[in-house]
Amino acid sequence: MQYDLTDMEVLRRLLARQGFTFSKALGQNFITDPTVCPRMVSESGIGDTDGVLEIGPGVGVLTTELAKRANKVVSLEVDARLLPVLAKTLDEFRNTEVLNADVMKTDLGALLRTHFAPGQRVFVCANLPYYITSPVITGLLESGLPFAGYTLMVQKEAAERLCAKMGTRQCGAVTALVDYYTEAEILFDVKKESFTPPPKVESAVIRLTPRPAPPVEVSAPQQFFKTVRAAFGHRRKTAANALSQSLGISREKAIEALRQAGLAETARAEEITMKQFAALSAALFGN
Ligand code: SAM
Repeated sequence: MQYDLTDMEVLRRLLARQGFTFSKALGQNFITDPTVCPRMVSESGIGDTDGVLEIGPGVGVLTTELAKRANKVVSLEVDARLLPVLAKTLDEFRNTEVLNADVMKTDLGALLRTHFAPGQRVFVCANLPYYITSPVITGLLESGLPFAGYTLMVQKEAAERLCAKMGTRQCGAVTALVDYYTEAEILFDVKKESFTPPPKVESAVIRLTPRPAPPVEVSAPQQFFKTVRAAFGHRRKTAANALSQSLGISREKAIEALRQAGLAETARAEEITMKQFAALSAALFGN
């Protein structure tokens, strides 16, 4: 039997049977707008031979759309109370598998090896629990795992930061990480009323497409990202003061490095481009 999981009455009955109550702490806001998940999937680039890793299936509203499109969908759900619900809603979809696991504690490399065919393209698609947006995206990008693309629903403000251009007011340290590994774009906005219960904030769906090569040449990526994090570490300070404090170096040394990167001593982290960060990192760490 197929369930219309965007029908409030169907959802209410399914959840009531399990005595389920929504957990705010786990970011449980389920999509009940019927247009959102089909659109996410159709704009994800996922094809019928591809695998998908989903984070947080909830009752399976996105999972079922993914299952109709992809070859295989593996979903990680931390809340064990949802497993009996998912067993029902995904019963028809033989190409889905739900693991009761916390994405932050899962060895994703091992998961890819054991749950997908060798060489199969695997995408990440999720309506993320917003309390772990940044650690999840950072973990995925820094894992070095060959995901083919990421289509993620996040808080609108986070979407704007993740997809910002470096050197503009909206960017942060995570922007540099995203820009280094992927081409990022906002696909569409999602209103609060599209969820049950509605969250306090607006949302947006973003797509991150891995780059074949980073947009700047960086000889030591770890030091590049250390420089970026240090510069953004104290947002109200100038980059010189933030670098000096975060890296434990003199202000004079920080100013000299900024100068070598072609930046003024009054520059702020959000004014620095990827290229300038690469030069700054080289000046600070000598590579
Ligand atoms: N995909 C569903 C939808 O679109 O309606 C639910 C999305 S809801 C915003 C986030 C889901 O992530 C919830 O089901 C929640 O239980 C789950 N979740 C929260 N923290 C998690 C974690 N650390 N690992 C895996 N799943 C998690």
